Amino acid sequence: MRGQGRQSPPAGGPAMEQYRMVGTPEGPLTYRLVKKRIKNLNLRLDRRGEIILSVPLRCPLERADSFVIEKSGWIVRHLPTPEQLPDLLPEVDRAACARLLGEAVARVYPLVAPAGVPMPQLKLRKMKSQWGNCHYRQGYITLNTALARCPEPLRDYVALHELVHFLHPDHGPGFYAAMDARMPGWRKRRQELKKYAQALIL
Ligand SMILES: [Zn+2]
Repeated sequence: MRGQGRQSPPAGGPAMEQYRMVGTPEGPLTYRLVKKRIKNLNLRLDRRGEIILSVPLRCPLERADSFVIEKSGWIVRHLPTPEQLPDLLPEVDRAACARLLGEAVARVYPLVAPAGVPMPQLKLRKMKSQWGNCHYRQGYITLNTALARCPEPLRDYVALHELVHFLHPDHGPGFYAAMDARMPGWRKRRQELKKYAQALIL
């Protein structure tokens, strides 16, 4: 979820962060690929079992994928048991998705309306590496259709995150203060949302 001011990759260039799925001898694995100014590939698992691979900026995607494949034995030995991951909500059709996400925006919009944020247009898109984004200059937000498979409080969190970008286009201290003021538990929701990353690659 980046505000427009923070979209660092050049147009058409590779995303700095994305979720990828690879087939490995241990079965399919989904990992988060992060491009950074580093020299070596760095693989780690976070507490929830998210697989995170940091790679140098110019590392080819094939190299990243094959690294995860090589390390798949180590990864599965250290992953938490699958029952710790939540089930996705059932898939819904486009109309139901539009309704669910429109409702999320409607629920949280009153939190930003007093600050003068106009009701934005809502666009829906299937995206692989972000839950939403805010085009504050053009007056619309985009929400990932995958949010329809996540619980309501998480949809509300993403909707609010994007609406707050109308006040603070980037993720500076002002942005986080504005989030804290409107949804004190948002960090917990952000953590929870990471468990639903599987929805991004379906
Ligand atoms: Zn953002």
